[in-house]
Amino acid sequence: MTEQKIFPAPSVDPETKEFWAATNENKLLVRYCNSCESYHHYPRTICPHCGSDDTSYKQASGTGTIYSYSVMRRAKEPYAIAYVTLDGMGISMMTNIIDCDFDALEIGQSVKLKFSPTTSDDVRLPTFTPA
Ligand SMILES: [Zn+2]
Repeated sequence: MTEQKIFPAPSVDPETKEFWAATNENKLLVRYCNSCESYHHYPRTICPHCGSDDTSYKQASGTGTIYSYSVMRRAKEPYAIAYVTLDGMGISMMTNIIDCDFDALEIGQSVKLKFSPTTSDDVRLPTFTPA
């Protein structure tokens, strides 16, 4: 196993400040619309489905399944990008799959949340690893 990868810090703006602050407490927050009762990601105050601003955060369980993935082998350090569908929420988020044999990844595979460090001490990146 290679040493832990440090990801570039994401840009934090007022709309995503609470989301990123929660990552430092190992919490993955997903924006929920109380009006049309659906989740969306990336977090936005205005629901992209119905335009309501009656939205709030809910904490994800931290488990999901790989919807699709792609392994970047030409990079100096190969890495895997995936869309992971979060259990119980019906949304997929783009993320990195870490700490695994990339050749063994499969669509439909169960994965679990594992936060990765970034170049900022204040923010961690939600990544996933095989469950
Ligand atoms: Zn809505």
